Amino acid sequence: MITFVGAGPGDPELLTIKGKKAIDSADVIIYAGSLVNPAVLDGAKSSAKIYNSATMNLDEVIDVMLKAEREGKKVARVHTGDPSIYGAIREQIDRLNENGIESEVIPGVSSFLAVASVLKAEYTLPSKSQAVILTRMEGRTPVPPKEKLIDLAKHNTSMVIFLSISFIDELVKTLLEAGYRPDTPVAVVYKATWPDQAILSGTVSDIAGKVKRSGIDRTALTVVGDFLGDEYELSKLYDKNFTTGFRKGAED
Ligand code: SAH
Repeated sequence: MITFVGAGPGDPELLTIKGKKAIDSADVIIYAGSLVNPAVLDGAKSSAKIYNSATMNLDEVIDVMLKAEREGKKVARVHTGDPSIYGAIREQIDRLNENGIESEVIPGVSSFLAVASVLKAEYTLPSKSQAVILTRMEGRTPVPPKEKLIDLAKHNTSMVIFLSISFIDELVKTLLEAGYRPDTPVAVVYKATWPDQAILSGTVSDIAGKVKRSGIDRTALTVVGDFLGDEYELSKLYDKNFTTGFRKGAED
């Protein structure tokens, strides 16, 4: 059994209890060293063999898993945030299936959720935005033709842009072209929940300059939308005149 573990955004206390148990009981740990905080491995057995996948290719990762499985060892494959978001787990799971090896996935706190928490923001602010788009820019790896940033951005909803901080100039240009107002609020969060976390707040028109002056060029998320602003309507969920399955409204 190979256990894929979402390690969360950085703070080791944001690991799930299940994820921590999988790491602490593993004989072999393969972790994405470029992004996973090594502190999440602090409880690992001293005998555990630890591999950093940042320097390995897919074949090498699978070989380590197959060997461990043959030897009856427990493997934790540790990904940053939640493995379902840009985690490249599917190709590993398929290769394991081909080899008749079972796997399971333990979810983690994705960085886009950690970013909302450190900003104390709500992506789905009533009357402002009821949809969240998670995407990335087309960098060295293409995106499907119908998912170009310019098209997704036309909704002007809450957007979370992964993996793209080094393209910040192009990013803001596209957001403007897609119709976001120049004063639409933007936040760039570097290493959310890590000790060296940094938050840059600005607008579509000034964020690129702030990013460049800060020197941030990796491990950051860009979030954009009026959910970061101060105007919204109160939710119906807690509206005293609105009935829910759990609560009668004042007028009923
Ligand atoms: N599976 C991960 C994302 C992997 S892609 C998740 O669910 O979060 C890697 C990108 O995620 C980085 O380039 C950066 O854009 C973002 N990222 C990961 N951890 C982050 C953190 N702690 N703070 C800000 N952005 C982070």
